[in-house]
Amino acid sequence: MTDMTDSAGENGHAESEVLGIHGVPVRIGDISKRYGKIPVLQSVQLNIEPGEFVTMLGPSGSGKTTLLMVIAGFVRPDNGSLQIGNVEAIRLPPHKRNIGMVFQSYALFPHMDVFSNVAFPLSIRGVDREETRRRVEVALAQVRLSGYAQRRIDQLSGGQRQRVALARAVVFGPRILLMDEPLSALDKKLREEMQIEIRQIHEELGMTTIYVTHDQREALTMSDRIAVMDQGTIVQVDTPSVLYRRPQNRFVAEFVGESTLLPVSISHDGSNASFAGQRLKIAKHNTTRPSSRSTLLIRPEHVRIARHAIENETDTNCFAGTVSQKLFQGDQLLLIVTLTEGQDVLVREAARHAAAGNSVEVGENVSLLLDREDSILVPGSEV
Ligand code: ADP
Ligand code: MG
Repeated sequence: MTDMTDSAGENGHAESEVLGIHGVPVRIGDISKRYGKIPVLQSVQLNIEPGEFVTMLGPSGSGKTTLLMVIAGFVRPDNGSLQIGNVEAIRLPPHKRNIGMVFQSYALFPHMDVFSNVAFPLSIRGVDREETRRRVEVALAQVRLSGYAQRRIDQLSGGQRQRVALARAVVFGPRILLMDEPLSALDKKLREEMQIEIRQIHEELGMTTIYVTHDQREALTMSDRIAVMDQGTIVQVDTPSVLYRRPQNRFVAEFVGESTLLPVSISHDGSNASFAGQRLKIAKHNTTRPSSRSTLLIRPEHVRIARHAIENETDTNCFAGTVSQKLFQGDQLLLIVTLTEGQDVLVREAARHAAAGNSVEVGENVSLLLDREDSILVPGSEV
């Protein structure tokens, strides 16, 4: 069927080595797609570096799968361009794009053994037996499944099946790997183990990877960069730490990580922000210009609880409130402190700090301290 040059790239066998695949850049330019009147993708633009691990993160229905399908060639966009390794790919059929894919449903052949499943992409590409055996062996080693070749799929655990699906996706040496919610069928513990493993495998393979999830923690754990999607548009693309510390709007601030958002008033000249009549000290790296809709973003682990207020401190904001809930979560205490102004602020403290006997109790009046460097203004959205 398909000849080897398709699966191996322009340079033939040298590039098709399963080990040490080099990623290619992917340029998504202005892609739009409607189903009937509904715009599912709206001018989506994203440049992905060779070998980069980029995650499309967004709630259900935000267009993540559709974008992946456009990249894979199964959905034709209404307009836009797609370059894979500097080749315009928008008109190429899926099998000529040299892309490996892994889905939530493994789409494995359950009655066949691991070897036959992993060998499948090679058999449709007409790779000979000797080469097939060699490549399947390498791919299984890469997903830590050496010795499982003769097992039947229905004898494997969920995590092992997902590894087989991954081996099958990389066995023919694709330039790009697309993964659509591959771990969502697994339980939490296994999912967290697999996140780390997929990331390690990605580092070994070096292939450009586009990963889709609605799980923000998964995205933070695995990605070089995260593109946050909302209603068919990319609203922010950044590294996990920048995304977490400097969300560009309320949607990102609330979707990524836990947060409390406090309404602030901005002075007429826009030079300072205040909450409940108190001028706020805002982080120097805060890049968004204050506007009338701005909110103060507070991450629960940035807040310290004190029994007494501190005044005139140049680099700390101080808010008065009452502890209204205190929940023990093993490693952490989760507290809800209701401010005098009525807003609930989420606070997380290391549980071992509380065990030292200086933790506050429900009903206690406290002060919440937030350092200037952790005080970020986020522009409000229309919601
Ligand atoms: P996500 O993967 O982020 O959950 P999808 O890309 O699957 O989002 O879907 C985005 C939107 O497009 C949803 O509102 C969905 O109902 C709609 N949609 C997806 N595929 C089709 C289709 N084939 N026909 C009509 N609407 C579709
Ligand atoms: Mg989806």
